[in-house]
Amino acid sequence: MQRRQKNLLGYNIDLFSVDEALDYSNSLIDSAKSSHIVTINPEIIEYANKHEDFAKILKEAELVIPDGIGIKIGLKINGEDVQRITGIGFAHSLLENAQKNNIPVALVGAKPHVIEKAYENLKQEMPELNIVYKHDGYFKDCKQEVIDGIKNSSPKLLLVALGAPMQEEFIYELKSILPSTLMIGIGGSFDVWAGEVQRAPEIWQKLGLEWLYRTIKQPERFKRIFPTLPLFVYNVIKEKFTKNTAMSECPRSIKTRS
Ligand code: UDP
Repeated sequence: MQRRQKNLLGYNIDLFSVDEALDYSNSLIDSAKSSHIVTINPEIIEYANKHEDFAKILKEAELVIPDGIGIKIGLKINGEDVQRITGIGFAHSLLENAQKNNIPVALVGAKPHVIEKAYENLKQEMPELNIVYKHDGYFKDCKQEVIDGIKNSSPKLLLVALGAPMQEEFIYELKSILPSTLMIGIGGSFDVWAGEVQRAPEIWQKLGLEWLYRTIKQPERFKRIFPTLPLFVYNVIKEKFTKNTAMSECPRSIKTRS
């Protein structure tokens, strides 16, 4: 399956539909090396612009799905009307797919009681799901044990919920340790699956306004989105305008012999 991507401010974003992204994920699970799905948004792009090592992680990801509303707007400005793929929704589909195909799964992240509750709820919802390993996300003092635990249980799918950028850095480290695992960073998804945090009502989700709902419910998130989101959109417009100007100038630079 061929990747079709669009570059926004230096970062390639895959233009798959949800079903295509799931098919592509299955091909990554079947491949003979580990891979990384990034759920990209303006906040992590802003962080990557300030941290070269992190930018490299994003650029080397095997699949980059348009999660943030800012990414959807940025792609639209560039003529691509893609379906937004939320990290939590996509991770849930990956789990359903894992249950259906008996793919071994590992879960790492969130507070100890949260991961336990999320595990119980997932097992109730998907009784055949083969969860081979789980650990909370507060393992600074026993990182090596967690890495060994993941490695020894040989998952083919690993969900990591440490928040960005920590989860992407941890996945990148694991890429060279695990022989063939598909990994995705899923932020606060375990908190939602544990019932600790409510997702936005469906109508907000359908309108693509879940980020706004979460910001209203957790006002401290406001400073994560502003001014990052409008600034991102401004920079995308600026980039497009600059590209167009450069293109329209191009014929004038061709010299002809007289
Ligand atoms: N977390 C963790 N270990 C840490 C710091 C955070 O496991 O050292 C977890 C935290 O408990 C939460 C998740 O990482 O479950 C981050 O959630 P947040 O809502 O910040 O992520 P977002 O969805 O906004 O990316």
